[in-house]
Amino acid sequence: MIDKWKAILGLKGWTITTEAIDKKSVIYADDVPDSDKYFVGIQIDKESMRARIYHDRPLTDEYVIHELLHVKYPDWSEDQVNSQTTLYKILLNPDYAESMSIKVHVRVEDNGDKYAVLNNGEEEMELKINQNKDE
Ligand SMILES: [Zn+2]
Repeated sequence: MIDKWKAILGLKGWTITTEAIDKKSVIYADDVPDSDKYFVGIQIDKESMRARIYHDRPLTDEYVIHELLHVKYPDWSEDQVNSQTTLYKILLNPDYAESMSIKVHVRVEDNGDKYAVLNNGEEEMELKINQNKDE
Protein backbone atom coordinates (compact mmCIF):
# COMPACT_ATOMS: atom_id res chain seq x y z
CA MET A 1 0.00 0.00 0.00
CA ILE A 2 2.82 2.39 0.85
CA ASP A 3 4.65 1.64 -2.40
CA LYS A 4 1.52 2.29 -4.41
CA TRP A 5 1.08 5.75 -2.89
CA LYS A 6 4.78 6.53 -3.06
CA ALA A 7 4.56 5.97 -6.81
CA ILE A 8 1.34 7.96 -7.24
CA LEU A 9 2.72 10.89 -5.24
CA GLY A 10 6.11 10.80 -6.95
CA LEU A 11 8.13 9.97 -3.83
CA LYS A 12 10.18 7.22 -5.38
CA GLY A 13 13.50 8.25 -3.85
CA TRP A 14 12.08 8.07 -0.35
CA THR A 15 12.30 5.23 2.12
CA ILE A 16 9.07 5.05 4.05
CA THR A 17 8.78 2.76 7.03
CA THR A 18 5.97 2.23 9.48
CA GLU A 19 5.95 1.47 13.15
CA ALA A 20 2.99 0.33 15.17
CA ILE A 21 2.99 1.95 18.57
CA ASP A 22 1.22 1.01 21.75
CA LYS A 23 -2.01 2.92 22.24
CA LYS A 24 -1.06 3.43 25.86
CA SER A 25 2.08 5.32 24.90
CA VAL A 26 0.03 8.29 23.70
CA ILE A 27 -1.51 10.47 26.33
CA TYR A 28 -4.71 12.35 25.58
CA ALA A 29 -6.37 15.16 27.44
CA ASP A 30 -9.50 14.19 29.35
CA ASP A 31 -11.74 16.17 27.04
CA VAL A 32 -10.70 14.25 23.93
CA PRO A 33 -13.61 11.99 22.88
CA ASP A 34 -12.79 8.28 22.71
CA SER A 35 -13.36 8.26 18.96
CA ASP A 36 -10.52 10.78 18.55
CA LYS A 37 -8.10 8.91 20.75
CA TYR A 38 -5.87 7.51 18.10
CA PHE A 39 -2.57 8.51 16.74
CA VAL A 40 -1.14 8.49 13.24
CA GLY A 41 1.83 10.70 12.61
CA ILE A 42 4.99 10.90 10.58
CA GLN A 43 8.59 11.76 11.29
CA ILE A 44 10.39 13.12 8.27
CA ASP A 45 14.12 13.31 7.65
CA LYS A 46 14.52 15.30 4.48
CA GLU A 47 18.30 14.96 4.35
CA SER A 48 18.33 11.17 4.17
CA MET A 49 14.95 11.05 2.43
CA ARG A 50 13.52 8.75 5.05
CA ALA A 51 10.23 8.96 6.83
CA ARG A 52 8.53 6.78 9.37
CA ILE A 53 4.81 6.59 9.96
CA TYR A 54 3.85 5.87 13.56
CA HIS A 55 0.39 4.49 14.10
CA ASP A 56 -1.64 2.96 16.88
CA ARG A 57 -4.43 1.71 14.64
CA PRO A 58 -4.30 -0.16 11.32
CA LEU A 59 -3.12 2.01 8.47
CA THR A 60 -5.62 2.71 5.73
CA ASP A 61 -5.10 4.28 2.31
CA GLU A 62 -6.44 7.50 3.79
CA TYR A 63 -3.86 7.64 6.57
CA VAL A 64 -1.05 6.76 4.20
CA ILE A 65 -2.09 9.41 1.67
CA HIS A 66 -2.36 12.01 4.42
CA GLU A 67 1.06 11.30 5.90
CA LEU A 68 2.79 11.01 2.54
CA LEU A 69 1.33 14.37 1.51
CA HIS A 70 3.18 15.84 4.50
CA VAL A 71 6.36 14.38 3.01
CA LYS A 72 5.60 15.65 -0.47
CA TYR A 73 4.46 19.13 0.59
CA PRO A 74 6.19 19.99 3.86
CA ASP A 75 4.95 23.57 3.66
CA TRP A 76 1.29 22.67 3.37
CA SER A 77 -1.05 23.37 6.21
CA GLU A 78 -3.07 20.61 7.81
CA ASP A 79 -6.13 21.93 5.95
CA GLN A 80 -4.43 21.69 2.57
CA VAL A 81 -3.30 18.16 3.33
CA ASN A 82 -6.80 17.24 4.43
CA SER A 83 -8.49 18.57 1.31
CA GLN A 84 -5.99 16.89 -0.99
CA THR A 85 -6.51 13.65 0.95
CA THR A 86 -10.25 14.02 0.39
CA LEU A 87 -9.62 14.49 -3.31
CA TYR A 88 -7.70 11.24 -3.51
CA LYS A 89 -10.43 9.48 -1.55
CA ILE A 90 -12.99 10.76 -4.04
CA LEU A 91 -10.92 9.75 -7.03
CA LEU A 92 -10.36 6.31 -5.53
CA ASN A 93 -13.87 5.60 -4.54
CA PRO A 94 -16.75 6.90 -6.66
CA ASP A 95 -19.21 5.73 -3.99
CA TYR A 96 -17.64 8.11 -1.52
CA ALA A 97 -18.12 11.01 -3.93
CA GLU A 98 -21.69 9.95 -4.51
CA SER A 99 -22.34 9.75 -0.79
CA MET A 100 -21.30 13.40 -0.61
CA SER A 101 -23.35 14.26 -3.73
CA ILE A 102 -20.21 15.27 -5.54
CA LYS A 103 -19.73 14.80 -9.23
CA VAL A 104 -16.17 14.55 -10.46
CA HIS A 105 -14.66 14.97 -13.86
CA VAL A 106 -11.11 15.41 -14.96
CA ARG A 107 -9.94 18.33 -17.05
CA VAL A 108 -6.66 18.10 -18.96
CA GLU A 109 -4.81 21.23 -20.02
CA ASP A 110 -2.74 21.55 -23.20
CA ASN A 111 0.47 21.13 -21.20
CA GLY A 112 -0.74 17.84 -19.77
CA ASP A 113 -1.67 19.15 -16.33
CA LYS A 114 -4.70 17.38 -14.97
CA TYR A 115 -7.36 18.87 -12.77
CA ALA A 116 -10.12 17.10 -10.94
CA VAL A 117 -13.24 19.21 -11.08
CA LEU A 118 -15.56 18.57 -8.15
CA ASN A 119 -19.10 19.79 -8.29
CA ASN A 120 -21.67 19.40 -5.55
CA GLY A 121 -24.43 21.19 -7.44
CA GLU A 122 -23.73 24.49 -5.72
CA GLU A 123 -20.08 25.15 -6.18
CA GLU A 124 -17.25 23.84 -8.23
CA MET A 125 -13.79 23.19 -6.96
CA GLU A 126 -10.69 22.36 -8.96
CA LEU A 127 -7.74 20.46 -7.63
CA LYS A 128 -4.61 19.75 -9.52
CA ILE A 129 -3.76 16.05 -9.70
CA ASN A 130 -0.43 14.86 -11.13
CA GLN A 131 1.66 17.60 -9.48
CA ASN A 132 5.40 17.59 -10.21
CA LYS A 133 5.20 14.35 -12.07
CA ASP A 134 8.85 14.58 -13.10
CA GLU A 135 10.25 14.74 -9.58
ZN1 LIG B 1 -1.50 15.80 9.21
